[in-house]
Amino acid sequence: MKKITEAYIQRLPKAEIHIHLEGSVTPEALLRLGKKHKTELAGMNPEQIREEFFEYRDFYDFLETYKLVCRHLQSAEDYLDTLRDLGRYFQRENILYAEVIFTPSIPWKFGRDGAEILGAILEESAKLEESRGVRIRWILDCVRQFGREVAERTAELAWQSRAQGVVGVGLGGDEKAVPLSEYEEVFNWVRAHELFVHVHAGEIGEPSEIWDALQILGANRIGHGIQASRDSKLMGYLRDHAIGLDICLTSNAKTKAWPLISEHPFPLLFERGVPVTLNTDDPGLFEVDLGTEYKKAVDAFELQEDDLHRIILQGIRSSFLPHDEKMSLMQLFRDKIQANGE
Ligand SMILES: [Zn+2]
Repeated sequence: MKKITEAYIQRLPKAEIHIHLEGSVTPEALLRLGKKHKTELAGMNPEQIREEFFEYRDFYDFLETYKLVCRHLQSAEDYLDTLRDLGRYFQRENILYAEVIFTPSIPWKFGRDGAEILGAILEESAKLEESRGVRIRWILDCVRQFGREVAERTAELAWQSRAQGVVGVGLGGDEKAVPLSEYEEVFNWVRAHELFVHVHAGEIGEPSEIWDALQILGANRIGHGIQASRDSKLMGYLRDHAIGLDICLTSNAKTKAWPLISEHPFPLLFERGVPVTLNTDDPGLFEVDLGTEYKKAVDAFELQEDDLHRIILQGIRSSFLPHDEKMSLMQLFRDKIQANGE
């Protein structure tokens, strides 16, 4: 049996389809923003920021840091700097396809122009596609605890931005905050307007949250969904309907959603044929990169090269790209995977 090295993983082409722009802010970047905007963080050093804000007692403690980061993203330029860092990350990790999640309701909450910021982001995103050799598509997220009106506005903005690379609308945030039925009409509208539906569910909530995401909102893909491992029928449904789960091992460990990677349900889901992918969720906030995430999975679950290739290709299969584009990208990935093995 061949040992899978970090160098081998690094060279593999990769897709990352669950990554939040706001969550890619590192302790160093947060400090830079703190200094720029002269906030309470300005006098700290990166180690202090790391110790104070980048270790989490639980999911809600993590959300506090998320809010702190969002409070520091005060202008379009701040978002663009974050995106440029992300472009460098994609190139470093050999990520050739990415679906990035952006939440326009965060700038709205601070009285800023979310549509204008999105416009700037999409323009920069197109430039990065050229300079970093990565194809980038966008999911606009409605925060579950922000309510229906914000979700309607987000969906409308996504629809207006389709030609610039927005492919879906998501629902993230605190899955225990508001029942999904509140969003049924909004997501009916989303699907009728040919946008994909992405729902964070079954991360810390019950398997019933995943069922609701599928049956009430018509989710095309589930963020996390790890609690599906407690429901055999649900695993069968996900497999039969080709509904992908975006798995984020380090995120789950750090938010304590699933504290031990060695006991993570990833191998069970994988064996049952549930379409699973590996992602970082928030590479800055969890201080992890996609290569490391793959290495952790290889070591913890004794994955073989073929398993790794299957998971990577699943990232394209589960993506929100049109069929033709999916097929040609899949071929490109297969060729690169094969070349890597020679
Ligand atoms: Zn997420």
